[in-house]
Amino acid sequence: GVKRLRLPPWLKTNFPKGENYQRIKSNLRKLNLNTVCEEAKCPNIGECWGGGENRTATATIMLMGDTCTRGCRFCSVKTARKPPALDPDEPVNTARAIVEWGLDYIVLTSVDRDDLPDGGANHFAATVRHLKKEAPELLVECLTPDFLGDISSIEILAKSGLDVYSHNVECVRDFSWLVRDPRANFDQSLSVLRSAKLANPSVLTKSSIMLGFGETDEQVKQTLQELRDADVDCVTLGQYMQPTKRHMKVHEFVTPAKFKHWETVGQQLGFLYVASGPLVRSSYKAGEYFIRNVLQ
Ligand code: SF4
Ligand code: SF4
Repeated sequence: GVKRLRLPPWLKTNFPKGENYQRIKSNLRKLNLNTVCEEAKCPNIGECWGGGENRTATATIMLMGDTCTRGCRFCSVKTARKPPALDPDEPVNTARAIVEWGLDYIVLTSVDRDDLPDGGANHFAATVRHLKKEAPELLVECLTPDFLGDISSIEILAKSGLDVYSHNVECVRDFSWLVRDPRANFDQSLSVLRSAKLANPSVLTKSSIMLGFGETDEQVKQTLQELRDADVDCVTLGQYMQPTKRHMKVHEFVTPAKFKHWETVGQQLGFLYVASGPLVRSSYKAGEYFIRNVLQ
């Protein structure tokens, strides 16, 4: 078989520390919240939860269970055709726990639930409404499935009161068919982002691309351009990491200098902000970026 690439030094990470991080982590134990940050053993926990310079703490919470109706080749979430039913109390309970936790910026995300008539849009929206009722200043981002492009689901969420509507294209256009579940595709994802903006022009839209699948510079440039043309406001770029041996191999470890280059290209294209680096994930320091680039 093909030998796995060796991990370059810039991907070796330290254990998170910091006073704010410790406080947030100990509060979390009492609240019964499952964060993507911990589940995915995300290397950015110290920075996101700690909040950085302006102490804007960010975390990501998964709604609607741990079982997805799809199976993307880069993702280690488990798959079933009919995952367990939704917990109707989840929106209110999750919102209360998040508010009590005391974050500044929350990313709500979920598995894809193609088994539900609305794909879970109303469940997401209810969570946002509870959050905004209890903590109006809390910034809320929803990182959503594509809802199979269903306009009414997208509108329900775009008008729920959220601040940022996020949907990831995941990789450059030409690799979509290889990397993502066959029910997903690049144009459908672009149309989700475009429809969200049309439904509520005051909402920011955001998307994320992983690099390292073997894409060319030209393909990255084109994908960034297409996102901007679809009026997407914010973009993040990070390194794809193979979660298990059964998943797609990493083709290349993109250098920090190259990520820096994409940050510059993105800024020249006119994105409100670009977060680009080997360890950057979709929600990487989202609160800090928002405060620095949107509110100021
Ligand atoms: Fe993973 Fe999302 Fe793909 Fe489901 S749709 S397999 S959660 S990336
Ligand atoms: Fe959590 Fe996302 Fe930050 Fe990782 S990048 S710690 S998953 S908010």
